[in-house]
Amino acid sequence: MAKQFKVDVNGAWCKGCSLCIGVCPKSVLDLTDRLKAEAARQKDCIGCRQCENICPDLAITVKEVEANG
Ligand code: SF4
Ligand code: SF4
Repeated sequence: MAKQFKVDVNGAWCKGCSLCIGVCPKSVLDLTDRLKAEAARQKDCIGCRQCENICPDLAITVKEVEANG
C-alpha cells in the first residue's frame, strides 16, 4: 500500500513567504487569501520533507499516516 502523508502548517508561525510552495515537487501547497501556506493537494504529497526543511519559521511538519482502505 502506498504511503500517505499529512502536511500541517502552523498558521501562527507562517509568514507567507512562499518558499515551501516553490520547493514542493508535487505542487501540494498553496497560499491562502490570508497569506498562509496550506496543503491544498494533500493527496499528492510524497513525503520528501523539502517544505519542512526549507521553512525559515519551522511552520511545517510532515507526518506519515496510516492509509485508510
Ligand atoms: S516556507 Fe514556512 S513561512 Fe514560508 S509560506 Fe511556507 S510555511 Fe509559511
Ligand atoms: S513533503 Fe514534499 S511533496 Fe509533500 S508537501 Fe512537502 S515538499 Fe511537497
